[in-house]
Amino acid sequence: VDDVALDPWGSSAVSDYRKLFDEFGIEEFDDVLPEVPHPHYLMRRGVIFGQRDYRPVVEALQNDEPAAVLSGFMPTGDPHIGHKLVFDEIIWHQQQGADAYALIADLEANSARGMSWEEIDEHSRSYLLSLLALGFDPEDGDLYRQSTNREVQDLAFDLGAEANFSEFQAIYGFDGETDVSHMQSVVTQMADILYPQLEEPKPTVIPVGPDQDPHVRLARDLAERMRFFKVSTAYASFELDDDERKLVARFHEELDPADFDDDQLRCVHVAETLEETPLAELAVDAETLDSVLTKLNEAGMEPLRPRIRFSDRRATEDAFDALIDAIDGEKRVYENHIDAFEIDRADAAELAREIEVDNGGYGFQPPSSIYHRFMTGLTGGKMSSSVPASHISLLDDPEDGYNKVKSATTGGRETAEEQREKGGKADECPVYELYAYLLAGDDDEFAKRVYDECVGGERLCGDCKEQAAQLMKEFLAEHQEKRAEVEELLEQADIELES
Ligand code: SF4
Repeated sequence: VDDVALDPWGSSAVSDYRKLFDEFGIEEFDDVLPEVPHPHYLMRRGVIFGQRDYRPVVEALQNDEPAAVLSGFMPTGDPHIGHKLVFDEIIWHQQQGADAYALIADLEANSARGMSWEEIDEHSRSYLLSLLALGFDPEDGDLYRQSTNREVQDLAFDLGAEANFSEFQAIYGFDGETDVSHMQSVVTQMADILYPQLEEPKPTVIPVGPDQDPHVRLARDLAERMRFFKVSTAYASFELDDDERKLVARFHEELDPADFDDDQLRCVHVAETLEETPLAELAVDAETLDSVLTKLNEAGMEPLRPRIRFSDRRATEDAFDALIDAIDGEKRVYENHIDAFEIDRADAAELAREIEVDNGGYGFQPPSSIYHRFMTGLTGGKMSSSVPASHISLLDDPEDGYNKVKSATTGGRETAEEQREKGGKADECPVYELYAYLLAGDDDEFAKRVYDECVGGERLCGDCKEQAAQLMKEFLAEHQEKRAEVEELLEQADIELES
């Protein structure tokens, strides 16, 4: 943000994140901020500091075109104020017109964190209640659990075919001890990320913490690999009519198999047995097939007519139309059949690259991401779910929330006198973070005033914390009241809560 006074960490803290920009290619959020319609306060205050390819999403929102937002929650404990950032990000995108998806990463919680299904059920419910209480519209959004979403499972399976163990090793450090479920949970997560595009490819943003970036990078890679029509999943099948069967018989009677090399014989064998063979293999052997045909021709036989049948379940007429359009020259087109000889090996490979088939291939657009800073723990250090005093749970008794803020570390000076003289260190203060991330809400003036008064020495920590603690208490009370109100909404939402 231009206004450093509104940046809770100042430029020095930004440099901690510089590595992400330099090493991993995450771009600064500021680059796109001016184009974002009605930016959320987390964007305005630099809490959302980074992005990867977010511009397509911004443009879609600007132009009222389809876009989506998706984020997942691993139900390993109670939702806390750090999770609220992600809830807010999802809800904001939904309000800007994006299709919103929130999922419960129950498979991941079970496989990567060893949570029992009972615990998962309980926490899942709690996450969703907070999401709804904060304004997620379930009528207009999608809530699901990984384990019960069949489409996600199918997509995960397909994506798994595109990824391999070495890749997981390089990205996640998996080794020989890593259990298979954990790997499965990664492909499931990839499927989650691409799920909003299953019906229709569209710019999709995944709001995450920077630690989740490896997932985003892998998902972007996989999306690219599955963007185009997958020739390798099309099958050639030789559906012989009676005349053709006779030809195969004549082949055995009249030709000497010794005249054919192994590849050529395999082609004949495939034709004979009506076996299905992946087009990729067939494409490799297109020349061989051609030579078989030539020999058959020389023997005075009409060539066999192997046909490519696209048995990929996603292939649709549009896919065929697009393929047909792209193929020059003579072609015989049957219903869902294209004469195999119209596509030779090179063409097949070329088509795979060239044709972006809306419905045939997945047509995925690489997903975008935005990155938010981690909240500092109230006791200093990282905010951690396992250290209760370091965070405020959205389920904390409001009085406990009040007390936690009152006991929080601050960026204050040793003495009041020194603070008046030098000003507090708001950039290093977890209490200031609470104002900027949450307590000031949409009120930039208020957040700025707290900051200015702190660094200007007008604000002392005792009063400042008292004000923050009060606001936290009110926030928690109000949030929990809303959670109770949306219970019914959650019951009506189309999501299975029990595993
Ligand atoms: Fe933090 Fe407030 Fe103290 Fe400033 S005055 S250091 S913002 S607690």
